Amino acid sequence: MEQFEGKSIFRKIAMGKILFYEKASAVVKREKISDPAAELARLDAAKEKAVHQLQQLYEKAVKEVGEAGAAIFEVHQMMLDDDDYCESIRNMVEQDGVNVEYAVAVTGDNFSQMFASMDDDYMKARAADIKDISERLVRILTGNDSDMSALEEPVILVADDLAPSETVQMDKSKLLGFVTEHGSSNSHTAILARTMNIPALIGVPIQKDWNGKMGIVDGYRGVFIVDPDEEQIAKAKAQMEEEARKAELLKTLKGQKTATKSGREIHLYANIGSVSDTAGALANDAEGIGLFRSEFLYLESDHYPTEEEQFQAYKVVAQNMAGKKVIIRTLDIGADKKVDYFELEPEENPALGYRAIRICLTREEVFRTQLRALLRASAFGNISIMFPMIISVKEVRRIKEILAEVKAELKALDIPYQDVEIGVMIETPAAVIIGEELAKEVDFFSIGTNDLTQYTLAIDRQNPKLDEFYDAHHPAVLRLIQMTIDAGHKGGAWVGICGELGADMELTEQFVKMGIDELSVSPTFILPLREIIRNMD
Ligand code: PEP
Ligand code: MG
Repeated sequence: MEQFEGKSIFRKIAMGKILFYEKASAVVKREKISDPAAELARLDAAKEKAVHQLQQLYEKAVKEVGEAGAAIFEVHQMMLDDDDYCESIRNMVEQDGVNVEYAVAVTGDNFSQMFASMDDDYMKARAADIKDISERLVRILTGNDSDMSALEEPVILVADDLAPSETVQMDKSKLLGFVTEHGSSNSHTAILARTMNIPALIGVPIQKDWNGKMGIVDGYRGVFIVDPDEEQIAKAKAQMEEEARKAELLKTLKGQKTATKSGREIHLYANIGSVSDTAGALANDAEGIGLFRSEFLYLESDHYPTEEEQFQAYKVVAQNMAGKKVIIRTLDIGADKKVDYFELEPEENPALGYRAIRICLTREEVFRTQLRALLRASAFGNISIMFPMIISVKEVRRIKEILAEVKAELKALDIPYQDVEIGVMIETPAAVIIGEELAKEVDFFSIGTNDLTQYTLAIDRQNPKLDEFYDAHHPAVLRLIQMTIDAGHKGGAWVGICGELGADMELTEQFVKMGIDELSVSPTFILPLREIIRNMD
């Protein structure tokens, strides 16, 4: 048994025979040519054939993964006509007098290196796309264009890297999972893996001699096991059975409304901490994202995430959710979430200290950068913005002033944005008590029961010694939830819960009776909650 760590692209588990995949690399020789026009005519014919192949791939992908996942093949078709790319090939053929396959291969290498060296992660990931279209052209030009092999039996595919076209051509019914050494979590192959619900790991140091051995891709732990022992096999089997049970539940409940028998509708949204978590949200049929903990972008970084980095992340989430509501919470750093580059001073009582909106309102530049990124991303989907740890109307009014200034800046620059809904988290008894006034300022409330319990019961949620005292079912907490719902509705705001209590199935019926409008929970709780609500009168 051997075990290797990698970065998980999709949280699922698969077990089966390993197939080591090596690209049939076409060897391209440099040759002198005498008739550049004839070479360029070959290029045109090859491009035409490539466009045709890509169109077929597009149609196959639309059926299998939907339009959003298939869009990359339209992009590839456009890339084939990119002016700079085509001009570079043409110049080499005309000025250097070389054969066209050589010019394509060199141009492909140059362009993909250029993209790979860019700072922007999204642009970096485009290097693989340039390589993919160039290899396609070379295969066609050298007559070596038998496309991706048909898989004969279910396998875990292990490869150095996979191009999107290779991923989509594979017979999905035979593909249990894939493991690659290279590739980024932003790459389209990774995006396709998520949409296809296939467990996948990247960054695993692969070995050719694994071919034919048994493997387990554990997308939950980010681990690849080669030659698993009996115990590991039994554990993987049990997990796969549990996944199959959930998949059954999904089949019957997917696409169904979340409403009680009497017709009261509850929105069931997902809590996420990263862009890649949207896959789990969609796979579990979330009706939207109720809490995107944006601080994870800061926690995963060693520098303040730039406006551009944040914009890309928020935009991808909004696009992935395709018009469904996406509530993004502004930075909630401090207390237990420490980031070195913020240089926060140690505090006696961090939970009662300099955190969340308190940091944003005193380090305005950090806040404004995030708001700019959020507003820019709002042009690409249905984004709402939510503010954590609010205790006063004054804070909300100041936030609204800053937001209005940021909007005015964008408008002056002709940068598009939407008039997003705004909401506040209700996490302190103070916010509950002034709920009605707060509700008049915003569109919605989301109750953060994790902190609301901590501040109501005066119990540090981080202290394991106090676990037995941390009672989220305490009548004081439940009454504060009822007060929040009533105050929100009176002031014209809808009210949801995004703390862990929202997924507590012992309380679901009670929350619905209290008048809750939305529950935002970890993706795997969505369908079980839908089932409970649909069985309520
Ligand atoms: C909460 O406090 O309930 C909440 C959702 O926020 P976090 O757990 O991120 O503090
Ligand atoms: Mg909180």
